[in-house]
Amino acid sequence: MHTEERTFIAVKPDAVQRGLIGEIIKRFETKGYKVIGLKMLRVSDAQAKAHYAEHEGKPFYPRLIRYIQSGPIVAMVIQGYGAVAGARHMMGCTDPLKADMGTIRADFAQVMEYNVVHGSDSVESAEREIAIYFNENELFADGKCMSELVIESLDAD
Ligand code: UDP
Ligand code: MG
Repeated sequence: MHTEERTFIAVKPDAVQRGLIGEIIKRFETKGYKVIGLKMLRVSDAQAKAHYAEHEGKPFYPRLIRYIQSGPIVAMVIQGYGAVAGARHMMGCTDPLKADMGTIRADFAQVMEYNVVHGSDSVESAEREIAIYFNENELFADGKCMSELVIESLDAD
């Protein structure tokens, strides 16, 4: 049984500053995942704290919060079969040195403190993270594929 999943992806500030927005979105789009939510924003204190709650107290936490607020991010929700694990697979390991070649982090990042992209690690995290950044009315999951558009609109004329 195949069911579609939604996952939260962020193009982190370093990638936005380096002009990699399109490159990173393109990877997910060409995989076939549907972009159902997309916005550029500055992460607020409350959003940063909520997003990275699981890491509070760890040595890298203060720097992580500074990093995610160091410039605008591009937040998106993508949808597809196995999208949570699929997107993580495409991103590669947290540490770009350990990420497989061809993954986003291996291709575009050098150190894990600036690893260009975020992706939810489970369906539960995804729903929690989506709610931090998006209202339901900002998500557009009912986009039709081209064949449906042709049948429903062109053939109806
Ligand atoms: N991070 C870091 N140092 C570490 C571990 C993580 O700077 O030792 C940063 C890194 O940017 C990572 C983020 O904190 O993407 C969240 O860490 P997590 O373990 O959740 O990795 P991810 O899920 O992003 O792969
Ligand atoms: Mg994580």
